Amino acid sequence: MDPTRTADEGGRACNEPGPGAISPVMSAFVPLADLVPGACIGCDVRLPPTCNDTTLCPACAAASPLFTPEERRARGVWAVAAFTGPLAAAYARYKDAGELRGLPAFARLLATAPPLRARGVYDAVTAVPAFAVRRFVRGFDPAGALARAAVAAAGFDAPWLRGLRRAKRWGRRQRGLRAAERRRNVQAGFVVRDAAAVAGARLLLVDDVVTTGATLAAARRALLDAGAAAVDRLALFRADL
Ligand SMILES: [Zn+2]
Repeated sequence: MDPTRTADEGGRACNEPGPGAISPVMSAFVPLADLVPGACIGCDVRLPPTCNDTTLCPACAAASPLFTPEERRARGVWAVAAFTGPLAAAYARYKDAGELRGLPAFARLLATAPPLRARGVYDAVTAVPAFAVRRFVRGFDPAGALARAAVAAAGFDAPWLRGLRRAKRWGRRQRGLRAAERRRNVQAGFVVRDAAAVAGARLLLVDDVVTTGATLAAARRALLDAGAAAVDRLALFRADL
């Protein structure tokens, strides 16, 4: 994704609606199948064909801040973008409503993160798993699907590992809980699937949105306790507190 790219060869700005553009208000009532490809995932303005690889119109890109190289690593976690603006709203539609249209764009964005650009550093990559019941309701695992798509988009050299699952009794939703409750909620919430695969491995652990960091920290702790040599943490979004 290149948010700095603003005009096609014909001089038309990428944020200028093409014929048949769908207004943001209307898009809430238009079935997904009717949405044209090549629309901005933030506001559904149709982009000129030469802008399609950007996926976000310049207005939405400007309102969805990506971190500078200095901002990307905070509290031990790598992240690519602030969890705000149209990009975050589009991610919520992907995650909660299963709107898969934005997944390739999110994957390309995550693939720009330094850990996924590194080669020869990690033995395997894994993701923070969704609760089984939530995966069942949604029909997919948002962070896992994102991580796998980003690994492919980055041409990452480490294999995928189904490293963790959620312990069944920790099924309470995180959203809406206070920080202290979140920490209690995720404590001991992860089970390592294959300790032999984890032992001695340098792992990259991926999640989609990091807020307090408690979920990623608990998942990392479970992998380290199982003998992982190192576990680096990466998220697409960071919600700065
Ligand atoms: Zn837009």
